[in-house]
Amino acid sequence: MTLDLKALVRSIPDYPKPGIIFRDITSLIENSDGFRESCQRLADAHRDKGITRVAGIEARGFIFGAGVAIALGVGFVPIRKAGKLPGETIGQNYALEYGVDTIEIHANAVGPDDTVLLVDDLIATGGTAIAAVSLLRRTGASVQHSAFVIDLPDIGGAAKLRAQGVDVEALIA
Ligand code: IMP
Repeated sequence: MTLDLKALVRSIPDYPKPGIIFRDITSLIENSDGFRESCQRLADAHRDKGITRVAGIEARGFIFGAGVAIALGVGFVPIRKAGKLPGETIGQNYALEYGVDTIEIHANAVGPDDTVLLVDDLIATGGTAIAAVSLLRRTGASVQHSAFVIDLPDIGGAAKLRAQGVDVEALIA
């Protein structure tokens, strides 16, 4: 029997600001079966695709990305907020509702020989994921696969990511 993962995600109203319902995965990962099954199902959806690296987006993408990387038997690459990585980095700016943000990877973490699976906890507008794909592709890596625990389909980010040539696997809509 497969677990009802959706039932393990908490919804917190008015966080981080009034009118927003925050989908909180801490309740999912506190459940050992829920955490293991989430990582396993995301990995199973991407077996036999020649994935050589999993890239996870700070911070919740690290949690699931690490589990998926172990399940697939490949290395993990952290995509971090600007200024956090100690080695030589490349960065990508992306628009927020108000302002811009920057994500970075180590310049030599992936390259033309890699097929990268992008992982995050949730896709909403797709802005973060699309910036991550652009950043990873600048290294010459192939980025055609992504995996999220939660998709908010009404917001349309998954469709935008697919339009960039990336298949999108999500466990919960
Ligand atoms: P997007 O760039 O609009 O697709 O937003 C996705 C990013 O924001 C991901 O890195 C998520 O971790 C984070 N995020 C947005 N809304 C939520 C939420 O309700 N719960 C958890 N993370 C969220």
